[in-house]
Amino acid sequence: MANSRVCLLRHSLNSFLRPSATSTFSPPVIPARRFLMSSSISSKQPLVASLSAKEAVVTSTDSENPNSSTRWKPMCLYYTQDKCTMMQDSSHLQKFNHSFNLEKALYGDEYENKHSEHLDFFLVLDLEGKVEILEFPVLMIDARTMDVVAFFHRFVRPSEMSEERVNQYIEGKYGKLGVDRVWHDTAIPFDEVIIQFEEWMAKHSLCIKEPGSPLHRAAFVTCGNWDIKTKIPQQCKVLKMKLPSYFMEWINLKDIYLNFYKRRAAGMRTMMNELKIPLLGSHHLGIDDTKNIARVLQRMLMDGVVLKITARRNHLITEKVEFLFENRIK
Ligand SMILES: [Zn+2]
Repeated sequence: MANSRVCLLRHSLNSFLRPSATSTFSPPVIPARRFLMSSSISSKQPLVASLSAKEAVVTSTDSENPNSSTRWKPMCLYYTQDKCTMMQDSSHLQKFNHSFNLEKALYGDEYENKHSEHLDFFLVLDLEGKVEILEFPVLMIDARTMDVVAFFHRFVRPSEMSEERVNQYIEGKYGKLGVDRVWHDTAIPFDEVIIQFEEWMAKHSLCIKEPGSPLHRAAFVTCGNWDIKTKIPQQCKVLKMKLPSYFMEWINLKDIYLNFYKRRAAGMRTMMNELKIPLLGSHHLGIDDTKNIARVLQRMLMDGVVLKITARRNHLITEKVEFLFENRIK
């Protein structure tokens, strides 16, 4: 995975991206196609999702194969930042995914979620960056059909670190995944990410414009409490920002998993192994982790899980978090 991405980025993207390419670019409208990631959800054997990550690497670079557009391929990370200037280049389009339809629809209308009555959408979020946030990916899933209906992804530039430290940090974190160049080309500070994220949420009617209001018929889904409980407030403090009101509650998939399957899962990999869902993409690349967590979520919904809020902040003292499940991962 890492090598293929390094190679593709160096040979394709860097050589074609001129300085002007970093200006804001609105990609052409692509017809919304059904994007299903439920590799092992259906008993019908999927063509794509049964590939191991290693096999997926091979197919992702197979530009000679006329069928390669139906195979799994890495997302163009310039596209996710609204900055891909190569949408007309067929070899680039063969190598990188520019829409959500990573996999063919496998189960059509078999699934209809009647369990999460108060939620129309799940927002799967998986931040990257221990010292400061480096990547902010959110996958919007229709709670009724499980389709991915929208995607928000930004690389985030740390605000407190020196240039030298940022370079080392990015080299260590994203260099080995082959996406350090696109990170440098596209990362913006967290407060700008939040402005863009709020525009994106408004476009999808996910928020009501009232102070202190939570999401409107939607909930964040995370793997653990760290992302929303700890990291987002920390990053807001760094930038002296008020914690946005929509980060008041969330669903920790690990708690849901524990209460539903009666098994403890330490993390995403454990859940995927236990549910026999193949890992796609690069672990610890936020955009890929988000999709893999979404695959776990889809599988759990198919198994009949009822998703409920697992953690909620105190509205007056936002540091105080109440955990709503007695049985939970601590
Ligand atoms: Zn692209």
